[in-house]
Amino acid sequence: MSAGAVSLPDPRNTDILVHVGGRLVPRAEARVSVFDSVVQGGDACWEGLRVYDGRVFRLGAHLQRLFASARALAFERVPPADEVRGALFACLRANGMRDGVHVRLTLTRGEKVTSGMSPRWNRGPCTLIVLPEWKAPVFGGRGLALVTSSVRRNPPQCLDSRIHHANLLNNILARIEADAAGADDAIMLDLAGHVAETSACNLFHVARGELHTPALGACLPGITRATVLDLARGAGLAAHERGIPPAELVAADEVFTTGTMGELAHVVRIDGRAVGGGDGPGPVTRRLQGLFADGVRREGDRIADDS
Ligand code: PMP
Repeated sequence: MSAGAVSLPDPRNTDILVHVGGRLVPRAEARVSVFDSVVQGGDACWEGLRVYDGRVFRLGAHLQRLFASARALAFERVPPADEVRGALFACLRANGMRDGVHVRLTLTRGEKVTSGMSPRWNRGPCTLIVLPEWKAPVFGGRGLALVTSSVRRNPPQCLDSRIHHANLLNNILARIEADAAGADDAIMLDLAGHVAETSACNLFHVARGELHTPALGACLPGITRATVLDLARGAGLAAHERGIPPAELVAADEVFTTGTMGELAHVVRIDGRAVGGGDGPGPVTRRLQGLFADGVRREGDRIADDS
């Protein structure tokens, strides 16, 4: 899949309203200060959320991860969960968004009184950004081509992967390699040479009917990853979280990625080798995709109406 084939953003996003620091503003006016911590050091944490049929999927888990990240980063004057939830719902309602929507929710350390690294210069509250866009699952059901990046995922010795931060330069460098190779995404290894994840998704494979995914350590504790593990185990499938050598992925019966942006997307090529035995998703991937599709329509926090 060449980079040129990436679908263009939905034209309905031209007129969206965005929540920035307590105000709902048109897209063209949605800006943060040059003094904001996210500009100065990528000093922010974030969540990607998806809206299905008037509900935000796994909102509680996303807010829990957001606040855990903010706590790990020692953010102060963090807005309470009710306020974040209220801003999210108000923003979705103002845009008339109920389905087919992805939300990038960012919490920065807030504005500094002068440029500088230390959070001592932060005197104001955190900045909350709610950016909702009309966006179908990004891969649209097609099989993905991945390449292995030369850039390693941050090891926990350098930056704990449980912190879902916005300081994503090594992921972006990996993605540049994928783009240059005409692939959809890049596999990032950990320092030991085991598979960590892609630049934006968790990775799974199926071998002899059992599911395998890298253990938490160098990968994000993805909410789709956790959902898929629950669904698999609930359906009686054995699911293992462990160190996975890259050669195992290439030899697997099925490989797929998970993430809020692209849901469960099957992989057909890794470093030029055909994987997964065909163009379409394999039987276990298809089964899990079906269970996931049922789950997203069944559960989730209904967009509250504050009228
Ligand atoms: N890994 C990385 C590096 C990510 O940025 C994301 C998306 N937030 C994921 C995995 C998937 O996480 P989730 O299932 O919570 O969207």
